[in-house]
Amino acid sequence: QAKSGGRDHARIFTPQLHEEQFQHLHLESDLRQAIDAGQLQLHYQPRIDARSGCLNGVECLLRWQHPQRGLIMPDSFIALAEESGLIVPIGAWVIREACRQQLAWRAAGIGDIAVSINLSAVQLKAGDLLATLREVLQTYPVTPGLIEFELTESTLMDNAEHTIATLHAIKQLGFALAIDDFGTGYSSLNYLCRFPLDKLKIDMGFVQHLHDSPQDLAVIKAIIGLGHTLGLTVTAEGVESALDVEALRRAGCDELQGYYHARPMPPAQFIAWLAQAAADNTMTSRHAVTT
Ligand code: C2E
Ligand code: MG
Ligand code: MG
Ligand code: MG
Repeated sequence: QAKSGGRDHARIFTPQLHEEQFQHLHLESDLRQAIDAGQLQLHYQPRIDARSGCLNGVECLLRWQHPQRGLIMPDSFIALAEESGLIVPIGAWVIREACRQQLAWRAAGIGDIAVSINLSAVQLKAGDLLATLREVLQTYPVTPGLIEFELTESTLMDNAEHTIATLHAIKQLGFALAIDDFGTGYSSLNYLCRFPLDKLKIDMGFVQHLHDSPQDLAVIKAIIGLGHTLGLTVTAEGVESALDVEALRRAGCDELQGYYHARPMPPAQFIAWLAQAAADNTMTSRHAVTT
């Protein structure tokens, strides 16, 4: 770089940019050892059945407990993990950890709680995802039907033929599949029918404007209609108020997820939430194994 850079090039290296690049490299090398250092954690957010109010399951959401910077949210490091390829080992860790947690809940007598796991396009393309899933099923005696993978529309549309084949293989192993943030990308309806899907998750952008935008409510209703026509469950994300719950129920939405019910929580807090909900008699796990 120094070779090709004359005076003009040197001008680019303002102290600030240099600092940003330095931070970026620093963060990447930190992330590289985050798994082994035990700094990654999963938080769990409940998914609630819209009609019964029962717990359908949880979505696991990744957090990075950085020794100097504190808790880092996924929006601040998933892109870096994807660019560097680190999302492949990190994503494999997430899958194993979610399965381990599901079995720990079972062992604790809480029952089998369905878990949704986010998958990145990079993981899907990496080629060893199926091997990882097979290995996980051999290591952890989970029920694959109670593990759901979430992919965004752009992940699905990117390299669609290869994606369709991979998704069929994942389905063949017994796992469930959902499209996340639905309505923000542009899915070809033609492709949509060819993916072996179980669920559409309406992007929370629509839900957030539910009450002040007739268009957004119309889009929500259209997605619910489309999902039901295709035989899919439809989930709304970003449900923040009792009014949201009411409007989404009326629109025929099947499942609700958002701060109104609970924020993503570390495992101990999730257990406390579950116990409280059971005590209030507002919640029983649909998948709870009665012991
Ligand atoms: P997502 O999968 O669409 O997850 C939903 C995000 O919305 C989560 O943010 C969640 O905390 C937040 N959320 C839930 N309810 C509400 C609500 O009522 N209001 C508002 N304003 N937000 C709500 P989070 O945990 O920061 O995750 C952000 C994104 O990072 C996720 O979006 C997902 O795309 C990605 N991500 C998280 N964990 C993983 C992972 O293990 N692997 C991969 N590849 N991506 C992940
Ligand atoms: Mg998700
Ligand atoms: Mg989403
Ligand atoms: Mg998202």
